[in-house]
Amino acid sequence: MDIRKEVVDRFLRYVRIDTQSKEGVEDRYPSTEKQLQLARLLVDELKDLGLEEVQLDQHGYVTATLPQNIPPDTKAASNLPTVGLLAHLDTYPEVSGKNVNPIIHKNYSGGKIVLPQLPDSPILPRDNPELERYKGDDIITSDGTTLLGADDKAGIAEIMTMLARLRSDLSLPHPRIRVGFTPDEEVGNGTKYFDVKAFAADVAYTADGSGMGEVEDETFCADSANIQIKGIDVHPGYAKGKMVNAVRLAAEFISKIPIKHTPETTEGRESYLHPYQITGNVSEAKLVTLVRSFDQEGLDQMKAMLERAKQEVLKNEPRAEIRIDIKESYRNMKEVLDKYPEIVKCAEAAIQQCGMTPVRKAIRGGTDGARLCFVGLPTPNLSASMPVRRGQGIT
Ligand SMILES: [Zn+2]
Repeated sequence: MDIRKEVVDRFLRYVRIDTQSKEGVEDRYPSTEKQLQLARLLVDELKDLGLEEVQLDQHGYVTATLPQNIPPDTKAASNLPTVGLLAHLDTYPEVSGKNVNPIIHKNYSGGKIVLPQLPDSPILPRDNPELERYKGDDIITSDGTTLLGADDKAGIAEIMTMLARLRSDLSLPHPRIRVGFTPDEEVGNGTKYFDVKAFAADVAYTADGSGMGEVEDETFCADSANIQIKGIDVHPGYAKGKMVNAVRLAAEFISKIPIKHTPETTEGRESYLHPYQITGNVSEAKLVTLVRSFDQEGLDQMKAMLERAKQEVLKNEPRAEIRIDIKESYRNMKEVLDKYPEIVKCAEAAIQQCGMTPVRKAIRGGTDGARLCFVGLPTPNLSASMPVRRGQGIT
């Protein structure tokens, strides 16, 4: 079968299965049962392809092995790594993934893309300049009522198609390949129960990126800051000189974070502070702030800014108490990947062999690979060719 047709057929099959994950679920993993429906389908398909050690574990991780086909006693077989390929099962929790109706826009000629069920909100090249590159290609979107789920079913479809290809053409030499499909990536828990030891790969790649030909070997260094502000609650009618209002102090604290260091004003390699959650009352307010930078120095600068905000608020209101607790989320995977430059180089060579120009990029976020890098599995991210627009439409 034509490989392009095969990858599209698989993709269309996978996106029709609703695998939305859910934020804030503590008492079960994966966060939604429906992700397992796709997991089970993939298990069947991996078995049909003749892969070995096909497994769906108790947490919803699908793993399988394609043994190397290079004779072990040859020179080519010496020092061959086991290569892992990873993609995630779930889709973004904020936009419905139910009854996805994929639409193929044949031979895209440029300009806006109208989604039939969302005609007033077309996908515009102005907002998505990367569309320009796909002139003459077919573009797949949802009908506008749901997300599409290309993130990351494009990655799954690509990996499955590649496995099918390697199984049908035994003349293509390959090392031992381990495949992993993981749940709950979109809610930040993709690797929570992932058994790196049992996966037993030497290197891995996630297929979870956007523009064609991109290799991502850098992520943010990420911390979160929990800021607790204690005030003094007094009957407001008799509060003069006594009340210390934690709600007002929380607002003041936020106002001290310079606007030029926030997500809405930064891009590229710039750091930011993102106060994104606030709860509380007069006696106590809590503020959660994301701290993001590409290196430790940048993180320290951002944290110093929080400390300054604290000191300024306390200067105006010394009776308040303010505590800042910093929690580490993940670190820039480049720290690890720089030790094994051949991993990214191999990916770039492969991209070149496919007639594309490799582009190295830094992710203004994290990946499952970033976490895996720090538990012994160096894992950069490869493009899964899913452009543009989170939410209804493409992603
Ligand atoms: Zn993804």
